[in-house]
Amino acid sequence: MSAPLTLAQLEDLESRHVLRNYARLPVAVESGADVWLHTVDGRRILDLLCGLGVTSLGHAHPAVTMAIQEQAGKLLHTSNLVHLQGPTRLSERLSTSSLGGGVLFQNSGAEANEAAIKLARRNKRGGEIVSLFKGFHGRTYGALSATPQEAKQEPFAPLVAGFRAVPPTVEAVQDAVGDGTAAVLLETIQGESGVLPIDHDVLRAAREACDAHGALLIVDEVQSGMGRTGTMWSYEASGVVPDAITVAKALANGLPIGALVTAPHLYDVLQPGDHGSTFAGNPLSCAAALAVFDVIEDDRFLARVVEAGDRFRSGLEAHPDVQHVRGSGLMLAAELTPEAVARHGSAGELALRLVTDHDVWVNGPTPSALRLLPPLTITDEQIDDGVARIAAGLAAR
Ligand SMILES: *Cc1c(COP(=O)(O)O)cnc(C)c1O
Repeated sequence: MSAPLTLAQLEDLESRHVLRNYARLPVAVESGADVWLHTVDGRRILDLLCGLGVTSLGHAHPAVTMAIQEQAGKLLHTSNLVHLQGPTRLSERLSTSSLGGGVLFQNSGAEANEAAIKLARRNKRGGEIVSLFKGFHGRTYGALSATPQEAKQEPFAPLVAGFRAVPPTVEAVQDAVGDGTAAVLLETIQGESGVLPIDHDVLRAAREACDAHGALLIVDEVQSGMGRTGTMWSYEASGVVPDAITVAKALANGLPIGALVTAPHLYDVLQPGDHGSTFAGNPLSCAAALAVFDVIEDDRFLARVVEAGDRFRSGLEAHPDVQHVRGSGLMLAAELTPEAVARHGSAGELALRLVTDHDVWVNGPTPSALRLLPPLTITDEQIDDGVARIAAGLAAR
């Protein structure tokens, strides 16, 4: 293999051949192992973001690597026109671990939500999709239409008709849901907007309103699912059981995959030919996801996620620049004091310096909060190292 391109060479090529769509950190990554990313210039970065909640078992997890290697030599693709081993076994795991109904694979979180929206509209023969302020469901047109954030929606108008957004309060949800509602689509903890937990009262109100009006309650578990919050699925903590969930990010620890998982009463809504996707449920991603399930779906593993989250939380909360830490399990945000924000400019600027100067990767989803989505396999020693690096970054100004 040829030598890796340097950061400067990559930046030069990108300036000429890559659309400007992504603002990249000045970091050129070549490989990863466990919680570490290795850069082309020989640095080791502690990855506490997991590619936005994707590599939850860390980089190059041996069981996932082996499953991918084995499957790669066997079969990559056939289309959905034949019966396959991996996708069917994975459907069973997804279903029995959650709502007990049917699975429809997609290739991403946004696509899983598109499938959920189509399911809801088909189920109600039309109808409105209700989502919550500050929710995030993806960038494709249906998912974007359910993502009521001005900066993301406004440049791409007109959006899809039949979407409504309300504040995350009991009254607003009760007022918005009626006989013309096809579904309420929400996150239990709003990840992209800064790890904002939705009150369990609001989830219960959404459940009751959907039951009263024949609408579906769809929980977007794209970021919060697969053990991230300390239970297999984040809805479990509330006692509210949705009609469907959408899953993606961590499902295959880095290979693209998404899934819609329903309750049994929705088995017959979609008929052959209603929806489809060439790559959906491809054997390679499904083999990786089965290996991920084997690790995560285990009470001791999930108990450790809770314990690790508590250690991170208390470590960060002990810092005078941290006002509070919110979230569950290892889906966390540290809200900085106004004084610390003023010193650092913004959480985003601090996050940039944490990666360039302190070799630790987190992000700043709001001007005043650092978000952490560390590997679920992180050790106490690595947690303490992460807290120390963040503290060093906070102390540098
Ligand atoms: C990331 C995310 C999505 C979009 O997933 P993509 O795979 O980027 O399309 C949807 N919903 C939530 C809650 C997410 O965090």
